[in-house]
Amino acid sequence: MPNQQPHPRPWRPNAAAVIISTEGKVLLGKDPGNNDYWHFPQGGAVKNEPIEHALAREVWEEVGLRPADYMIARSISNLRYKYPEHNSKSNRWIGQNQTYFLLVCKNDHPKISVARSSEFSKVKWFDIHELKLSIFPKFKRSVIQKVLLEFFPEHSQSSLTETSCVSTLHPNVPINQQLPVMDRYLVPHGSKLNFKNFPPDDKNLFSGNKEESLVEFNALSKEFQELQRKFYAENKHRMLIIFQAMDAGGKDGCIRNVFSNGDPQGIRVIPFKKPTPDELAHDYLWRIHKEVPGNGQIVIFNRSHYEDIIAVKVKRLFPDEVWKRRYQSIIDFERMLAEEGTTIIKIFLNISKAEQKARLEGRLNNPEKIWKFQMDDLDDRNRWDDFQNAYRDLIEATSFPHAPWYIIPANRKWYRNLVVLRLVVEKLRSLKCTYPQPIFDPSTIKISD
Ligand code: ATP
Ligand code: MG
Repeated sequence: MPNQQPHPRPWRPNAAAVIISTEGKVLLGKDPGNNDYWHFPQGGAVKNEPIEHALAREVWEEVGLRPADYMIARSISNLRYKYPEHNSKSNRWIGQNQTYFLLVCKNDHPKISVARSSEFSKVKWFDIHELKLSIFPKFKRSVIQKVLLEFFPEHSQSSLTETSCVSTLHPNVPINQQLPVMDRYLVPHGSKLNFKNFPPDDKNLFSGNKEESLVEFNALSKEFQELQRKFYAENKHRMLIIFQAMDAGGKDGCIRNVFSNGDPQGIRVIPFKKPTPDELAHDYLWRIHKEVPGNGQIVIFNRSHYEDIIAVKVKRLFPDEVWKRRYQSIIDFERMLAEEGTTIIKIFLNISKAEQKARLEGRLNNPEKIWKFQMDDLDDRNRWDDFQNAYRDLIEATSFPHAPWYIIPANRKWYRNLVVLRLVVEKLRSLKCTYPQPIFDPSTIKISD
């Protein structure tokens, strides 16, 4: 008789939303049943639906917020809980495979409505310290514990017990300033960019001084080394990190400090200088596309295709229509790279005009640095405002969730390095790379003498 194994039930893909107000409160919906339980808005994805679509739909149906009302700050996927036996869906599915999104409301008083679904009887904004695991249904608690630790790592880990979860978020600091680097310096897609909101001297994400920062920097650098080793061994993801800055913005120093602990086999740095005659005889993406990362590789662009807009526009190297049409081809190019599996991070190292002066003077006065000084730098400095405006327009138009821009305060070198390293480590962590497992049983293999 053939072995009649019952067909295993699948996990149901599901999107869940941890919605956070500008004051740092978290939105929960009350279970409509006769109990004391609360839930995050959530819902299943239909077949082949991108999980972000499911998220947008469920958040709209259950609490009445549109994607324009929030920005997606972070996500964590592959969190699973089994349906309890009596759940009507448990015949069809074993349980839910959830992706949780951290959504930050853009406006102070978002209009919440539960009228579109019967999922919740009411909603309430909770202080983070009110998020006790006991207010969630038992079968979801282990997932929710992971989510809270992931999204609010500042919480003391030990205090997130079965019953309580104490936040170390500061009540008087806007929540946007307490989010991880990924969010704090991110330029959200479609938003107006004002450089005044990104001060080059900012050091909000670290309360100590340079010496104190080295403890965290060194720990992160070690973590980067381990993550990159797995990234390389797994040979699955590709990562492209683009650096742009004004002259003396610190690209070289930042790249050297942040990445030099990595394995050179998996990392390449590609500087893009003034195009050579051969490069100019091709389309502008020719020299760029050749260098993008393959599987397992991290490639760092020191300047990039963005020069083909910025330099061309500000220095009037070609007629305006040339750089204007490049916006769209760059957007298309990066979308293609992302769709084909490349994680893209774009970093603008933001220094002040005074800091640039000090650094250029430093180059002139230091025999070990004078080789970096270019006469062109003086012309470019005279066009400071044109460059800033061109960068503003460019970053505004080309920051997308799949290829986001981060504006990193770069007047303090140690802070710049710490923040960029944190950002890179956060991105690498989110890929959850693992060493490949053997497809054979190692105990069956004997190595001959
Ligand atoms: P630093 O910031 O330390 O000065 P750098 O990146 O400026 O380093 P340089 O060799 O001084 O290095 O300059 C490279 C120059 O090449 C920059 O002025 C940049 O604008 C220019 N460049 C790069 N790509 C292009 C391009 N596609 N078209 C025109 N100019 C470009
Ligand atoms: Mg230069």
